[in-house]
This record gives sequence, C-alpha cells and structure tokens, in this order.
Amino acid sequence: MKIEKAEVVVTSPDRNFVTLKITTSDGVTGLGDATLNGRELAVVAYLTEHVVPLLIGRDPHRVEDTWQFLYRGAYWRRGPVTMAAIAAVDMALWDIKGKVAGLPLYQLLGGASREGLLAYGHASGKELPELFDSVREHLDQGYRAIRIQSGVPGLRAIYGIASQAADAGGGAARYDHEPARRGALPVQEDWDTRAYLRHLPGVFEAVRNEFGPELPLLHDGHHRLTPIQAAKLGKDLEPYDLFWLEDCTPAENQEALRLVRRHTTTPLAIGEIFNTVWDFQDLIREQLIDYVRGAATHMGGITPLRKTIEYAAQYQIKSGFHGPTDISPVGMAAQVHLGLAIHNFGIQEYMQHGARTKEVFQQSYRWENGSLHPGDEPGLGVELDTDEAGRYPYERAYLPYNRLADGTVHDW
Ligand SMILES: [Mg+2]
Repeated sequence: MKIEKAEVVVTSPDRNFVTLKITTSDGVTGLGDATLNGRELAVVAYLTEHVVPLLIGRDPHRVEDTWQFLYRGAYWRRGPVTMAAIAAVDMALWDIKGKVAGLPLYQLLGGASREGLLAYGHASGKELPELFDSVREHLDQGYRAIRIQSGVPGLRAIYGIASQAADAGGGAARYDHEPARRGALPVQEDWDTRAYLRHLPGVFEAVRNEFGPELPLLHDGHHRLTPIQAAKLGKDLEPYDLFWLEDCTPAENQEALRLVRRHTTTPLAIGEIFNTVWDFQDLIREQLIDYVRGAATHMGGITPLRKTIEYAAQYQIKSGFHGPTDISPVGMAAQVHLGLAIHNFGIQEYMQHGARTKEVFQQSYRWENGSLHPGDEPGLGVELDTDEAGRYPYERAYLPYNRLADGTVHDW
C-alpha cells in the first residue's frame, strides 16, 4: 500500500478549517487537521507546495518515520505553520492505520483507560448575573467543569466574554463561540491588568457562593500577566479552589513559571501555543505546571502529543488538551482518542462546533452526560463531506488584538 493522493481542503462552514485528506493505493482515506486560527492559508501553502509532493509513493504505515522525515528533513524546524502541517499528515496516517486495522484509534494507543472524558465548557458574562446565567446554561448542557471569564469594569471588550464581542466594534460578526472574527482587519480589544487583578477574585468568590464548593472551576489569564502579577493572582484565587489557572504568563518566557510556582498552590496549565515536545521539557522536568495544554493540531500531531503526555505522567502532570472551535472535529477526535487511552488524563476543553461544521465533518465522537467518548468507528471516526465543504469557501478572519489605555499594544 502506498500514498497515492494528498489533497488540502479549505472550508468555512462556521469558521475556517484546513484539512488534509490522504488516499492510499488501496482506496483507504485518512484525515488530518491543519487549522491555524487567523493564519490558515500559510499552512495550506506549506502543505501544498512542500509536503504533499513528498508524501506521494510513501508507505502510509510508517507514521513515526514520516514524522521524523518531515520534521528533521526540513532542517528549519518548529513553528506553528510547520507543526500544523506535520500534524495533519500524522493524524491522517493514524486514521489510515486504524481503518486498515479495523480498530478505533484509542485501541491502537493501548485501549480505553476510562469510560469517558471529563470536559469543560466556557461560561462568561460582562457582569455577575449574565455570568451566572451562562454557568447555569452549561450545567444544563451536562458540563461538570466550567471555565469562568468575566468582564472588567471600565474595559469595553476583553478576551473570553461572548456578549462583549459586539462592543469591540469593527462591524465584524462573531465567529462560532470563539474570538476570531471575519473581516478585513482584526478587531481591537482593551486591557488593564490592575483593574483585572482587583476585580477577578471577587468574581470567583461570588461564583463559589452561588454554585457551591464542588463544581470544578477554571480560568484563563491568556498570557497577559508579569510573573509577579500572576503569582499574586494565583495566591488571591487560592480560597476558591481552582481546577487550574491557565496561561497566566506569556508562553515564550517559561522561567516565569518558576516564580509563579514559588508563591501559589493554585494549579497551573500552559501550552496551547506550544509547538513541540521540547517546549514542555523544562516545565515538566521541573514540575512547574500541573496540566499540559498542548493540541495535536498545533504540536505536530498525535505522535508528539503522546510522547509529551507520557513524559508528563512520570511527574503526575496530567492532560488538559486545547479544545476551542478552531481545533476541527478531526483534531478534536484525535485528542479524544488519546485522552481515552492515556493513564494521566486530566480534563478536555470542549467548545461545541456549530451545526454547519457538524454537517461538513461527520463525527462519531459523542458528548453524553458531561462526558466525551471517541466512538468505535475505525480510525479517527470523522468523515469529511467534500461536497458540503465546497459550499463554504474560505473567508478572511483574524483573532483580535489588545491595546492598553495609552495605546500600547499588549499581549492578547
Ligand atoms: Mg486558553
């Protein structure tokens, strides 16, 4: 069996997705997710111009060898564009291997270690009543763990608040439950770290008073704080027993987490914008984090994400894989299979895709009673309806960016 064809499919049912479809000489097809939010077409070019020609004629069963060939063979390693492209190939080859074996991917990875995956959703509100309503909606949908993001008085629009998106202006339509917006230019949002640090502990106190001590609560700092600010926030949130504080400092400066760690027992999660196993090396070995936020789509696929999480297991560090809607159903399925198989599963982020996306990508993973299961179809269990995909051409869209009150660009 050889790889006969590899096609890159771009579709925008509720948002933009980039998918690699590999077909073998036996007619078996495999899918991989190569979606890079806001920079999608760069990955399309990388795949089409540089990767697809290398795949034709290769043995699709050689997953590890193909990964090493694409990673080491390029000489120019790492980076989100390269790693999203390699990820798509890796996922598609695992998908093919599962289909040929007649087994769902999780069986090839060691079989189920649990009945299903705990998943968390995103509740948000400009003010407390709206936030409480959002938490209740998530509880009604079956979520048993919830991320809490709140508006900050004096700030017009900030990250993570669904109903504030329109306040950011720019006339851009909000994009399927997440912050990227269609339009010619990115929308500007606001930031004031001191106002945020003053306001947030009171929000968590109110949520705990309203919903009790048992509900696992998470929060995303979205890379905005200095190490000492993050340390203070972690400490201030300790009474509210967070499941995790995510991305409290910018991802580039991993040493920052040493300082944060010295000051707080609030669990820390990071890594959604990391690209490789090596980005996690020091953080895992020095036990500076509690959860690995990597994504199969952005870390080069299932193969390296599995290596990372197996390494983390030696330090009791668990998974908390990235799962916004810009991870396509193919990328999400990859993570749900891996999460079912590994021993050190922690939680899975799960923002549900829109109805059009579910028409384009027919999924066999299921969401029942607050739990995710990959299903038992061979391979990843996701099929792409290319006719349906063709109805939704690419539309330019960007993530927002941030400025402080004096006009300085700040981490978004
Ligand atoms: Mg995040």
